[in-house]
Amino acid sequence: MADVIPIDDAVPPTVHAGVEALRDVAALFWQQGWSRGTSSNYSIVLNRDPFRLLLTASGKDKRRLRATDFVVVDEAGRLVAASEERPSAETGLHLVLAKQPGVGSVLHTHSVWGTLLSELYAPAGGFRIEGYEMLKGLTGVRTHEHREWVPIFPNTQDIPSLARDIAKRLIDPVHTMTYGFLIRGHGLYTWGRDVEEARQHVEIFEFLFEVVARRLSLEAAFSVLPLST
Ligand SMILES: [Zn+2]
Repeated sequence: MADVIPIDDAVPPTVHAGVEALRDVAALFWQQGWSRGTSSNYSIVLNRDPFRLLLTASGKDKRRLRATDFVVVDEAGRLVAASEERPSAETGLHLVLAKQPGVGSVLHTHSVWGTLLSELYAPAGGFRIEGYEMLKGLTGVRTHEHREWVPIFPNTQDIPSLARDIAKRLIDPVHTMTYGFLIRGHGLYTWGRDVEEARQHVEIFEFLFEVVARRLSLEAAFSVLPLST
């Protein structure tokens, strides 16, 4: 991934709009507490052929991303334009997701509720969310009766290995993974056809994570005063 292609005329002109869109995302997510410090990373597909991915550079403060805090990489994660910045350490995860048909943006957050739930449900490999109206914020979901399984992958610093596991899961016909997943003790990955849809999916997941986690902490109260009474 350290190889640099010494040309930058292949960087699409949409790069500037993409940079501004991801700076907005970072400011919002920081404000919400989902992207504190230098955590999280975000990407936008600039071009399919040749493949070009705009990605946050490694170790940048998400409270105030600068226009220079980004890189453009190709399908193998190599820098397309000469840059002093390094791609995020998790570039390989963005690549495997962004190469999926219909995916235009991948967003990754590190929230308190997502982190806690990923620890709690890791032994089960995931958890189900159902019965909430907010599920309809996931594109294509039509009813609160939808059952969304949130897979949880073990955390690791071996990104190529994790990327392989995720790639396998994306084509698993039985255990489908349509909207996103958690990494244990780490955070959420979700995606969308463009950055707006991916941002909405982060907002929906983070809302639902908080509801699920807070409900668990109120379980005793729910058992005494069921919602139906
Ligand atoms: Zn991360």
